[in-house]
Amino acid sequence: MKTDILVVGAGISGAVIAERYASLGKKVLVIDKRPHIAGYCYDYVDENGILMSKYGAHLFHTNDESVWEYVNRFSEWYKWEHKVLARVDEKLVPIPVNIDTVNLLFNQSISSEAEMKKWLEDHRLPIENPQNGKEAVLAKVGPELYEKMFRHYTKKQWDKFPEELHASVLNRIPVRTNKDDRYFSDKYQALPSGGYTQMFEKILAHPNIEVRLNTDYFDIQDEIGDCSKLFYTGPIDRYFDFKYSIKEKLEYRSINFVKETIDQEYFQENSVVNYPGTEVDFTRIIEYKHFGHQKAPNTVIVKEYTVDSGEPFYPVPNQRNQEIYERYRKDAEQLKNIYFVGRLANYKYFNMDQAFKNALDLFHELEIKRKERKRNKRNEKLPTN
Ligand code: UDP
Repeated sequence: MKTDILVVGAGISGAVIAERYASLGKKVLVIDKRPHIAGYCYDYVDENGILMSKYGAHLFHTNDESVWEYVNRFSEWYKWEHKVLARVDEKLVPIPVNIDTVNLLFNQSISSEAEMKKWLEDHRLPIENPQNGKEAVLAKVGPELYEKMFRHYTKKQWDKFPEELHASVLNRIPVRTNKDDRYFSDKYQALPSGGYTQMFEKILAHPNIEVRLNTDYFDIQDEIGDCSKLFYTGPIDRYFDFKYSIKEKLEYRSINFVKETIDQEYFQENSVVNYPGTEVDFTRIIEYKHFGHQKAPNTVIVKEYTVDSGEPFYPVPNQRNQEIYERYRKDAEQLKNIYFVGRLANYKYFNMDQAFKNALDLFHELEIKRKERKRNKRNEKLPTN
């Protein structure tokens, strides 16, 4: 096997690294154990003619101009301001919490930002520096909304209550004092016109890139000859053969997707409906047909059950896991010309744009270092007066 750069994983991080090095004239080999590219972003048109995501809905949003410019090189994008409804007390209410959420759940008639701020002031708890997910929510919206919308959903998703997680997990969801019902507030919110897989095909289409699917890095590790750099995007503990996880496992959450085709035009009124209560075991139902207002005679829904075994989807951000991860990170740092990139290799709850940014930044950083080394070498060779 002869290549300049070996990339393990054809998801966001691997594809970006491959494309960047290929553009410099390097020969890049990308391997992936799955039968497809695009990692967890993989989407496909199913037997009903609906564009579906195999591993859950992926909503792109960013404030980062460089990431937005980069992704636009490989796909057209259409504006998609994602919305989520939550089924609470048999009502459908917007999440993030906004004026309508409070009016619907507590029979209020709030109509201005000032009234909403007052309502929140009267309900939130005075916690100055939230130390965990529970305190983060209580400090923003108070115990009633915590109980109705956050406590059990979090338990279902993480098998942990919010107090067992970093505040940052729950802080992903803002609180709005107006009627804005968008899930995100970033400047760019969009979906790729032909789907994510098509975009990845374009990213990986460079003639210097070879992609080998159905190839598990750990099966071919010994056959790998010389390559100047290896980029690994899989779970970091797997790379080190779980050496620090014998007693204390580095935790991940996985999702069981249960798909149903339904012989009606639509099943629910929105692409995503969350179920934050204990009445069902799944966290949410996704109806993909809504994305991009697709046309099809029937519809497909996917119920998401978060589970602890299976493909690792989410790192679990808390102190204990951070400590285990740190041990692996320190070992990773010692390796020469092997780089850990992406959500699983960095054990970070990255959004899609952060994954793009992380890979682009790593590439720039390495390139700057390489150019510096080259300059220094040239300077060493210059005759001194
Ligand atoms: N969350 C919640 N209720 C909801 C939606 C989210 O309690 O209806 C919490 C939950 O702990 C979740 C976190 O907020 O993990 C972040 O939600 P997000 O939608 O960002 O998660 P993702 O899209 O990554 O699944």
